[in-house]
Amino acid sequence: MNLLLLGPPGAGKGTQAQRLMARFDIPQLSTGEMLRSAVADGTDLGKEAKAIMEAGKLVPDELMIQLISERIGRGDCAKGFILDGFPRTTLQAEALDVMLNERGLNLDKVISILVDEDALIERIAGRFSCANCGAGYHDTFKLPKTKGKCDECGATKFERRKDDNRETVIARLKTYHEQTLPIVPYYKADGRLVEVDGMAGIDVVCDTILDLF
Ligand code: ADP
Ligand code: ADP
Ligand code: ZN
Repeated sequence: MNLLLLGPPGAGKGTQAQRLMARFDIPQLSTGEMLRSAVADGTDLGKEAKAIMEAGKLVPDELMIQLISERIGRGDCAKGFILDGFPRTTLQAEALDVMLNERGLNLDKVISILVDEDALIERIAGRFSCANCGAGYHDTFKLPKTKGKCDECGATKFERRKDDNRETVIARLKTYHEQTLPIVPYYKADGRLVEVDGMAGIDVVCDTILDLF
């Protein structure tokens, strides 16, 4: 099963991808995560991406296409994958179809998560994650069950993304409107797109998505 989660920053793509991953036993391919680990490792890609990410802009298409093509080719994607954060431009969407076609694959569902702009800013402002396993949390909407301790792995260290500040968020939303929103009609045109109300709580949104299967 090959799935794609589409939506603005803070919509809940990563949150729902983690749940779908557990449900279907297929990996979450988050290009944002891949880039953050490239930055942390100081690779050539990381060096190129760092300032772009901090400015809330997009890393060049050719780098992203190469990154995701290599990732989809790995063994753990044999049963499928969940794309989270890719594609983000029409060029990336077209390249994705080409690379899937070449492998005899296609996208089973493109799930677009719809969330109001005010809620996005609130979600991003309160976002944090486990420094050990990456599990996602929120200051208001999803605190660990035991204060200061990750539900998934028990670790006690958490981190916040450098780009989750007000100024960068506004730039990221602008980038989303200008460059990513135009891919919605691309997926609408051939009937692959399903729209899901992302304004409800995490569990309700998850149930709505699972009802699609
Ligand atoms: P994205 O991957 O689309 O940027 P995330 O999954 O990281 O979004 O979610 C952004 C923040 O909002 C996280 O802190 C997450 O815990 C929280 N969140 C996700 N979905 C919901 C929801 N349906 N209701 C309230 N908060 C949510
Ligand atoms: P969010 O969860 O807020 O949607 P991501 O973690 O997906 O953010 O991405 C963080 C940043 O990484 C983006 O703001 C952008 O700079 C870069 N990035 C991630 N995916 C892509 C992509 N497919 N194309 C270009 N840049 C990307
Ligand atoms: Zn953890």
